[in-house]
Amino acid sequence: MKDMTSIDPHLDYQVVIIGAGLSGIYQIKRLADLGVKATVLEANSDLGGTWFNNRYPGARFDSESYTYGYSFSEEVLEEWSWTEKHSPQSETLAYLNFVADKFELRQYMQFNCRVRSLTFDEDTSAWSVHLEGGREVTTRFVITALGTLSTPSLPNYDGMDSFEGISFHASNWPHEPLELEGKRVAVIGAGATAIQLIPEVAKKAEQLIVFQRRPNWAAPLNNGPISESEMSAIRERYDEIFATCARTPGGFEHMPDPRSFYDVTPEQRHELWDRLYDESGFAIWLQNFMEIFVDERANAELSDYIAERIRRRVHDPLVAELLVPKDHGFGVQRLPLETGYFETFNRGNVQLVSTTKTPISRVSATGIETTEQSYEFDIIVYATGFDSFTGAFNRIDIQGLKGKRLSEKWKAGPVTHLGLMISNFPNFLMLMGPQTPAANFPRSAEMSVNWVTQFLEYMWAKGHVMFNTDEGDEAEWVEHVKETYQGALLRNAKSFFTGYNSNIKGHEHGNTRYNIYNGGVPRYASIISEFSNNEYKGVHFQ
Ligand SMILES: Cc1cc2nc3c(=O)[nH]c(=O)nc-3n(C[C@H](O)[C@H](O)[C@H](O)COP(=O)(O)OP(=O)(O)OC[C@H]3O[C@@H](n4cnc5c(N)ncnc54)[C@H](O)[C@@H]3O)c2cc1C
Repeated sequence: MKDMTSIDPHLDYQVVIIGAGLSGIYQIKRLADLGVKATVLEANSDLGGTWFNNRYPGARFDSESYTYGYSFSEEVLEEWSWTEKHSPQSETLAYLNFVADKFELRQYMQFNCRVRSLTFDEDTSAWSVHLEGGREVTTRFVITALGTLSTPSLPNYDGMDSFEGISFHASNWPHEPLELEGKRVAVIGAGATAIQLIPEVAKKAEQLIVFQRRPNWAAPLNNGPISESEMSAIRERYDEIFATCARTPGGFEHMPDPRSFYDVTPEQRHELWDRLYDESGFAIWLQNFMEIFVDERANAELSDYIAERIRRRVHDPLVAELLVPKDHGFGVQRLPLETGYFETFNRGNVQLVSTTKTPISRVSATGIETTEQSYEFDIIVYATGFDSFTGAFNRIDIQGLKGKRLSEKWKAGPVTHLGLMISNFPNFLMLMGPQTPAANFPRSAEMSVNWVTQFLEYMWAKGHVMFNTDEGDEAEWVEHVKETYQGALLRNAKSFFTGYNSNIKGHEHGNTRYNIYNGGVPRYASIISEFSNNEYKGVHFQ
């Protein structure tokens, strides 16, 4: 094998990976195995990314644990036992630590290293990486593993800084225990995070008031334990599980129903939905008829069905109506899964305030004021989502060829080639960047890491020191990504799929950002493998 450590001795590193979450961990494993001089720079004080940060009560994934884990190591599959169908944050963080420790990957990671800027030097074909605090390192290649949901976004209410109690974004829930007993708590938001944490907070807080602007559709997670014997059966099935994930559009075991919505009677549809509503994970979303994603009538019938299920679970009909979304159909946004969410609003200590009817006018020293009333709180939780997909990139000043800035290029939304490369930003590769499939994350992340590693091996084998992807090919890819939105009901949704975020300028509804590749995992996999089989045709190498 070529001695990879001797390449470019004048540079600090051959590869810098930014981010030590699930993607960065696997990428450094692949590069360490090749003996490449590489490091991971991580802003946090430890690894884990999403699962290091999000410690709010109820945080867990909606993916099935055994489809979420890495597939690359037989030993890990053999040695690790998941204890719940949908693993809680603490177990997932322990899992990522187990993998990193098993392969002794910490030695390649540097924590408390926030990357502030990246500058490409055309003379040396290398990047200068500037860290918070002033340190600088040089590297031939940069691989971003920044996370799609790693940059929390807060609302802009007057007086937020004046609140004298405890307040934080849900993603920054304190790491030390936070006493909720006897406390008056506000949760602002009704998205996936809020839907997970509200039932847990309600069990402990003296009073919980939820400020909801737009309700989201949600369906039961139906979580449960995994016994040791079930885990053994899962181990036997791992090959089959991952093969199935590779065949489905979302990278899950859930296969869409093969029948057409219109080929079955309304009674048969309801039979299917009754069954799927009681199954675990995304069954109700991803084992449904394909028409629900593209056909208004099919989607409306399913939405009516789910609305009825919500109404049955909430005692007060007025509260139930507030919890039923009216501005979008079921499943056109990322579906949050819940455990007792709707029943939580039957509790005496929980109140729902619609901020569409009575908007929040300001945050005061003691609480929250709406146009109608003042409320006093000890704790305010902002469950207000993320500056998703592009937020973490925009927080780094990235300058490519001729000093061009990525933030400028992406002003109206991401522009990439295959979600992996960006023209005029040479030697820059993205893991799970925008315009890749929004799927069961590890399934796509492993695919991206494998592709990127193979690409770098190709460059090293050929002795190339620089690549730049073609502007024309990039434009074609962006057009193709846009086509994958056509006909899909999600194209009109106010969601991170379309880049909507009312708290961020330029992300208003109507300014569609094509954040995801909506053509499914199998199609994406075949496009990127054809690109490598054709020796990256169109890429300019030096
Ligand atoms: C609450 C929640 C639930 C989720 N549930 C699911 C689920 O059920 N199924 C699923 O598939 N996915 C889920 N996701 C998505 C989840 O983000 C991915 O599954 C996965 O963890 C992403 O891994 P990553 O390594 O790509 O990114 P992340 O885990 O986000 O890691 C990115 C890392 O980059 C670091 N970073 C960012 N900017 C910089 C910088 N400038 N300098 C240095 N470091 C930086 C961050 O600190 C972070 O550690 C969920 C996300 C959230 C927030």
